[in-house]
Amino acid sequence: MYLHELSTSIRKLDGVGPKRLKAFSERGVLTIADLLLYLPRRYEDRSSPRALADAGGELVNTVAQIIKHEYFGQGRNRTLKLIISDGTQRAALVCFGRAFLADSYPPGSVIRVSAVFQYRYRELQAANFEIEPAPGETVGPPRGEQSRESALFFRIVPVYPLSSGLSQHHVRTAIALALDHWGHNIQDELPETLREAAGVPSAAEALGAMHRPERFEDAERGRRRFALQELLALQFAQRRLVAALHETERPPRTQPRGMLEALLARLPFALSAEQHSVLDEILTDLGSPRPMARLLHGEVGSGKTVISLLSMAPRLELGEQTAVLVPTELLARQQYETLRELLEPQGVRVELAVGKLTAQERRALHERIAEGNAHCVVGTHALLTPQVQFRALSYVVIDEQHRFGVAQRAALREKGAAPDVLLMTATPIPRTLALTLYNGLEISQLRHRPPGRRTVTTHLARRTRRAEVYAHVASSLREGGQAFVVCPRIEADENGESASAEETAEELAGGYLSEFSIGLIHGRLSEEQKRSTMQAFTAGRIQVLVSTTVLEVGVDVENAVAIVIEHADRFGLSALHQLRGRVGRGLRPGVAFLVYGEEPTEDAKQRLRVLHQEQDGFAIAEHDLKIRGPGELGGVRQAGMLRLRFTELERDLDLLERAATAVTSVSEHPVLERSLLEFLPFTKEEPCV
Ligand code: ADP
Ligand code: MG
Repeated sequence: MYLHELSTSIRKLDGVGPKRLKAFSERGVLTIADLLLYLPRRYEDRSSPRALADAGGELVNTVAQIIKHEYFGQGRNRTLKLIISDGTQRAALVCFGRAFLADSYPPGSVIRVSAVFQYRYRELQAANFEIEPAPGETVGPPRGEQSRESALFFRIVPVYPLSSGLSQHHVRTAIALALDHWGHNIQDELPETLREAAGVPSAAEALGAMHRPERFEDAERGRRRFALQELLALQFAQRRLVAALHETERPPRTQPRGMLEALLARLPFALSAEQHSVLDEILTDLGSPRPMARLLHGEVGSGKTVISLLSMAPRLELGEQTAVLVPTELLARQQYETLRELLEPQGVRVELAVGKLTAQERRALHERIAEGNAHCVVGTHALLTPQVQFRALSYVVIDEQHRFGVAQRAALREKGAAPDVLLMTATPIPRTLALTLYNGLEISQLRHRPPGRRTVTTHLARRTRRAEVYAHVASSLREGGQAFVVCPRIEADENGESASAEETAEELAGGYLSEFSIGLIHGRLSEEQKRSTMQAFTAGRIQVLVSTTVLEVGVDVENAVAIVIEHADRFGLSALHQLRGRVGRGLRPGVAFLVYGEEPTEDAKQRLRVLHQEQDGFAIAEHDLKIRGPGELGGVRQAGMLRLRFTELERDLDLLERAATAVTSVSEHPVLERSLLEFLPFTKEEPCV
């Protein structure tokens, strides 16, 4: 059986009921195949035995006996302590909210323990611990092969990403069941020659290695097996897209320039030479017999929106329709305003298609689009519904294109008769990499910021110096500027040290920035809430906007002069660079404060240093490939551009090149072809982020 054929619901697994099913599905895990491909976030090394006596802040891995139960606290706070000893030392496992453990672990029972212990109240304690019964085992850290058969102890253990309702235990148990039941019978769809050339194991072996590695190298090899498949799938999807775009030919035609000239004359600035030449490239494509398949690749603020708008003019002048697809409602509205301001004086009717419309409004809008009275339509995925039918759609712009699935991009394209397609992305990646990744697309680059745009001064600040940072911010606010404060999203199991936008907003309002009005935006708010807060910020009614990384894409507020990025050491280079691009977009220079923790890792330090020194996004991208981003195994979070789960571009460039070559012969392997179509999360229809 091939992995992609394992479409059995995880419901079939013991212990997976409706509640767990829902929790898993929030993580995109519906089938056994999804589950088997659920990549650990990191691995914990429990392979070295360590006695309680040697605890010293290190991870203890030992076999211990339960001496007795103790309790402390009163009423609902009554808390169980398991007093244990492994023959070298006594210690306490503090069972907050887990009084039920008393029954399963009576005094006298022998257990395997993995935990970091600390001295508290003169006692060696751990509140975060894992234990399992080990009846009959010798007490003390095991020697040799003893206890190796345990899935969780005395070995390298995967740590999975979680969501509410999903514990490590749930995920590990489910994966163990699935592996035991299906793991051995999995055939590999990748041609053996390709696997061998790339030096990666078979699918079955890779799954074992990923979830039950003997050594760290195994886990890495397992990951790379699926990275190869992922990159192949990516290349394949790309090729299909380009082939589809180029499918039809049409008679070449001249592009009228009347509206374009009028727009250029009305712009409050002159285009830079680079912008002019990119615009020319696009216009040439629009006049050619082959429909355009071009990627406009340029930094935040390099003028992509402006160029795409201008390039629509010839089509609009011909009475044809254009569509602009953007990933969020916030951005859709922003673009809509820009487009309207420039295009409406030219007699172009600009429309906004977003989710939140009444049935009546929606019907009326669909009618205007179908009759051709709506000329330029900007919208979110609401644009993609089958009810949206254009009369004559001839040009499609997809902003932040990586946010959309292949199916979504295709859905929009299919609303016209072989329309020209301009894909845009703000994530700067090195050109060589772009050529391979975007195999088959024509690429235009905007490398420079338009003249007259201010640069952003970047300061690095230790957390202990936040008072000074916010004093700076406060003084620019007093001068009439506005500021962003960005906080990383918190992972479900991160203990203690909080970095949530909510808490930060509260803290600032009660402290450093108490004299200013503060708004809050994060992913859990409704579109409506986000929009009204954003509007208040744009209008200047709110001076400080505290947010998670929802800010990352395209938000444009000219008056924003300062940005504070809390826990900057936890962000990847590109994300930081993009965030920094939120300020200094108007006439005033911008300033960015990257606030980092007490002990940033070497890599984090390097990232911060690069940001401090470099302004050029493409140069930053080159560094990005060399320095690992935050997070360990899993995903191109550092580049933040493709929702690749397994690939770590900086380590997998060789695989990318192999995939780019191998993709040409995919159609000779029908099974492989099928599996690739199933493989990428973003080749399937899915709501965009
Ligand atoms: P992007 O979409 O690449 O982020 P935009 O098209 O939104 O960039 O442009 C960013 C800002 O720069 C906008 O306010 C835009 O009006 C301005 N801008 C673009 N090109 C120029 C230019 N040649 N000179 C001055 N300002 C420009
Ligand atoms: Mg833009």
